[in-house]
Amino acid sequence: MLYVCSLLTLAALLALFLNGSFAKEAACFHLLFAPFSMDFYTAVLHISLDNGEYQKFSPLRPYVVDFLNHHVNPSSVTLTPLWELLCQTHVVSAWNSVISVLWWSSNTHVCWSTFMMVLFSQAAQLSHRNAHTPASRKHWLCRCLENTGFFLGTKFHQQHHKTYSSNFSTLNGWATPLILVLQEFFPVASVFWLVVFGACTVTLALWMSLPGWASVLLLSWW
Ligand SMILES: [Zn+2]
Ligand SMILES: [Zn+2]
Repeated sequence: MLYVCSLLTLAALLALFLNGSFAKEAACFHLLFAPFSMDFYTAVLHISLDNGEYQKFSPLRPYVVDFLNHHVNPSSVTLTPLWELLCQTHVVSAWNSVISVLWWSSNTHVCWSTFMMVLFSQAAQLSHRNAHTPASRKHWLCRCLENTGFFLGTKFHQQHHKTYSSNFSTLNGWATPLILVLQEFFPVASVFWLVVFGACTVTLALWMSLPGWASVLLLSWW
């Protein structure tokens, strides 16, 4: 199943490259927007799956159990084989890859955002693993990304493991200020987060393609 999803992701990429023109400006907008939107998404996903109450929904149960187990034994994430860790993101990205391949393959922005989504969701897995890796064992590239703010800081993520009520981001923490503002209105136990998680999951590629459309509109107005 995971291999099929990987192939679908590659097919989405192929569709992207076989497509017509794609403004460089749009690609840049996507590149800036994707790390933010994926950080927002990972935080919303994390808030939802940290909620033990949702074990009663059987499709969510294995993921909720996984997240709660991570709180009990945080360092185990560094022992999971890398390939397995990266493939876990296909649970979310496969749906959007299928849409890109089968339906919107003529739309470069949706294909490109699918690519960005796959890339940054896997970066989030790496970033989270890096946050739990002892300093002496961190890969130099991950350390560099952490020091430049493109990956989570270890201290930042450890804060989550102390309180379980903040710092839910798992990619870079860029969306944390927005999440904290939303937390003022919607506590972590609120069903709001599950609704946003569900809505984001099924429309992720479409939502992440927004900057592409925005830049095209901006350019045509220019
Ligand atoms: Zn957590
Ligand atoms: Zn963690």
